[in-house]
Amino acid sequence: MKEKPIYVTQPSLPPLEEFIPMLEKIWESKILTNNGPFHQQLEKELCEFLGVKFISLFSNGTLALVTALQALNISGEVITTPYSFVATTHSLWWNNIKPVFVDIDPETCNLDPDKIEAAITAQTTAILPVHVYGNPCDVEKIQKIANRHKIKLIYDAAHAFGVKLDGKSILNFGDLSVLSFHATKVFNTFEGGAIISHSAEMKQQIDDLKNFGFRDEVTVVAPGINAKMNEVQAAMGLLQLKYIDDFIEKRKLIFTEYSNLLRNIDGIKILDQNSTTINNYSYFPIFIDEKIFPVSRDVVYEKMKASGFYGRRYFYPLISHFYPYKDLPSAMPDNLPVSEIVSRQVLCLPLLSDLDIDTVHSIANCIKEI
Ligand SMILES: *Cc1c(COP(=O)(O)O)cnc(C)c1O
Repeated sequence: MKEKPIYVTQPSLPPLEEFIPMLEKIWESKILTNNGPFHQQLEKELCEFLGVKFISLFSNGTLALVTALQALNISGEVITTPYSFVATTHSLWWNNIKPVFVDIDPETCNLDPDKIEAAITAQTTAILPVHVYGNPCDVEKIQKIANRHKIKLIYDAAHAFGVKLDGKSILNFGDLSVLSFHATKVFNTFEGGAIISHSAEMKQQIDDLKNFGFRDEVTVVAPGINAKMNEVQAAMGLLQLKYIDDFIEKRKLIFTEYSNLLRNIDGIKILDQNSTTINNYSYFPIFIDEKIFPVSRDVVYEKMKASGFYGRRYFYPLISHFYPYKDLPSAMPDNLPVSEIVSRQVLCLPLLSDLDIDTVHSIANCIKEI
């Protein structure tokens, strides 16, 4: 057992001494929330960094998802993936929308575009795919389907901070994209999130919705919620932005090392990196096929744990196995054969920006020894 356990992820933290002067500014101004100066500055800097036109900051990614669905008036049924964090589907539940699960593509772990149309009914109003592990969905194909059926397209881009496809931000596809800035994500504001929209009108509507529906002091335009990002979160975001390139560069080194060490092992698959994609290296999933590899994923997981390396079976179980979704017709394992297999094979290896290369070797050896 290692003295200090190595977890799948740990928050990247900028220097504390740079954060304290920002807190002092908040104490001086006494502006703690409600679109304060740090909030405004972070929206501006994120638009530049990400290459997007309109962003609305949120207290967390889940409330951003719930609000994105509200902003587009989504109702009835929405097509989504079972291979995600449970908040993706919960955001539908909180809007009284029936999730319809569609299977994933084994090469990307994203919603399989060729299986979407068969699941569209007269009640379908939108598609909610996820860019899993920051790997872009087939955005062209999915957009064409949405256009053909005149339904909306909202991306859960919680893993896709900074990801680019052919030089363009992945966040510019679809009607809206939603980010999470949770502590475990590549870019964090302790907790936080955002919606990327494509017009000033839509941004205004989203900003109203996250602030009780207030347009001005005396006008309420919608039954909004309170999902505002506060000034401490926004200050953290500004500081993180100064270091984000450095954090991602370090992750890239670890990611590349894992790839080199674990490539070409019978029974272990790693995901191909697309040469047209700029990745954020947020996760390093491996897929263990127990029909070929000597032992199952769970045995590898336990063995790593015994050596002090905490990987995570991310995403296992599938969302379609959880209450209240497990009895939906689309949640039946027969409908989701690829997702069922992938979720039993996946193991995300520890990937922290300050993981040293020796530890990466120890983790890879721990797996190879089997
Ligand atoms: C983290 C995450 C969320 C939720 O974000 P929070 O900021 O934790 O509320 C939603 N979807 C996916 C895919 C996530 O990984």
